[in-house]
Amino acid sequence: MGTRQNRLDQLRAYSSSGYAMPLPAGHKFPMSKYAGVRFLVEQTGLPVLEPPRADWHLVERVHHLEYLKKLRFGTLNTKETRLLGFPWSEMLVERALRAAGGTLAAARDALNLGLGVNLAGGTHHAYPDHGEGFCVLNDVAIAALELLQTGLARILILDLDVHQGNGTAFIFQQDPRVFTISVHGERNYPFHKESSSLDIGLPDGVTDTTYLQMLEEQVLPVLEQFQPQIIFYLAGVDVLERDQFGRFALTLSGAKTRDTRVFQFCQNQGIPVVSLMAGGYNKHLENTIQAHANTVLAALEVFVQP
Ligand SMILES: [Zn+2]
Repeated sequence: MGTRQNRLDQLRAYSSSGYAMPLPAGHKFPMSKYAGVRFLVEQTGLPVLEPPRADWHLVERVHHLEYLKKLRFGTLNTKETRLLGFPWSEMLVERALRAAGGTLAAARDALNLGLGVNLAGGTHHAYPDHGEGFCVLNDVAIAALELLQTGLARILILDLDVHQGNGTAFIFQQDPRVFTISVHGERNYPFHKESSSLDIGLPDGVTDTTYLQMLEEQVLPVLEQFQPQIIFYLAGVDVLERDQFGRFALTLSGAKTRDTRVFQFCQNQGIPVVSLMAGGYNKHLENTIQAHANTVLAALEVFVQP
């Protein structure tokens, strides 16, 4: 086996599942999905590592000091806490730093190996001055700015989570080095949408066939045109039927085909890709867990198996 196989042997994933924060009983956020996904990914033989903590100075390039101070000292007010959707705890902050560190580490893996995997991240609703929609820090923006700082010039963020990547779109609105694509439910949260470089708002009830056709015809050609040096892929699985916060109707198999097509495209074009979990809140937790694990399986099928 040649060098390519040797490099692929180094593939790994990062998981923040050890940093679960306390949530009140009945909270809608499926915190246990991270451990479930980690377990399924470990079954594939892919090593799963502790993510490093993102340095505060990298976080400060994206987020305002005033917001970060409130996060560090636990002084968010009631309105800010409600907007975020999580109660404050030290673990909330630690977890957000680990998730961002995992995304940056996975981005460096992608540049070295072709593929990087973070079993967390894709917290695209976080704005510079506040968190919202279960998103504390904008991990992709933190990682992207660091890559730009260290020499990259063209980055693409492909956000296929069912909700618009409003925070990310806002952060990079004026930055021609970063192309943001968001495919989302037009009638879904966030109700005030920002302008991504490309927004595709779809109606409720979208099925596999419609979705996959849209991906081939409207998304992949745009990726090809921009010729990015790296793609951050937010593989949100809240596109599945029976998601509590989604309105699409993709099947597990349709969602996996979506992921496979993205990874095949990246591999064919030789574009490094970072796989990020983003959202997934199915009425049946096991479907969310399986769909997130399927994203990693799809990536391994494309990158590792000939
Ligand atoms: Zn979402």
